Amino acid sequence: EKVVITVDGPSGAGKGTLCHALAEKLGFDFLDSGALYRITALDAEKKNVSLDDETTLAEIARNLDIQFLPENGEIKVILEGENVGDQIRTAQAGQNASKIAAFPLVREALLARQRAFSTEKGLIADGRDMGTVVFPDAKIKLFLDASAEERTKRRVKQLQEKGFNANFDEILAEIKERDFRDRNRAVAPLVPAKDALLLDSTHLSIDDVIKQALYHIAQ
Ligand code: C5P
Repeated sequence: EKVVITVDGPSGAGKGTLCHALAEKLGFDFLDSGALYRITALDAEKKNVSLDDETTLAEIARNLDIQFLPENGEIKVILEGENVGDQIRTAQAGQNASKIAAFPLVREALLARQRAFSTEKGLIADGRDMGTVVFPDAKIKLFLDASAEERTKRRVKQLQEKGFNANFDEILAEIKERDFRDRNRAVAPLVPAKDALLLDSTHLSIDDVIKQALYHIAQ
């Protein structure tokens, strides 16, 4: 039996950290579905395809030549032989991903690819619509949220630790813009699945979030 645990929520709520911890604890595979949207937007840019051209974007999404290679607890993202890990992690790449993610044909093109990540090993699926659209029959569904201000604080801290400048107001505006787009699009908007456990990490440490998730999974 293929076990799937879905983890959905807005950007910066701590899904990535939670998912990596769960995948490691449970020995499951990990699907970073956001990376697929980021890579599609990047590949389109590299091929000079407009981010408004839904049909061609869907073709790009269907034909992506990508590999996810686990390496020292991280996952290397390879697009047509090139390591694009840094290129897909910029704020601009996130905005581009959320723009093309609003196109139904793009979402549909990525559907089979996402489902193919589910194996006998078990899967932790990280995204926006994992529990609602991609894996509606998942055994366990989590929805991880946090206030926009708290998510901004964490992002600022993360950037500063990497030696980057980070402006709180700019990042807050960016997070709110992406939230708005993700929550209000016509297809697969960001909403908790009806059977999802809601976890609010605004006042919780990541360790507490992991503990609560593991407790729920064990029930
Ligand atoms: O999770 P991440 O920040 O990498 O996702 C980038 C963007 O891709 C999101 O803002 C969202 O618009 C889109 N996305 C999506 N559905 C998913 C995962 C990501 O629409 N399952």
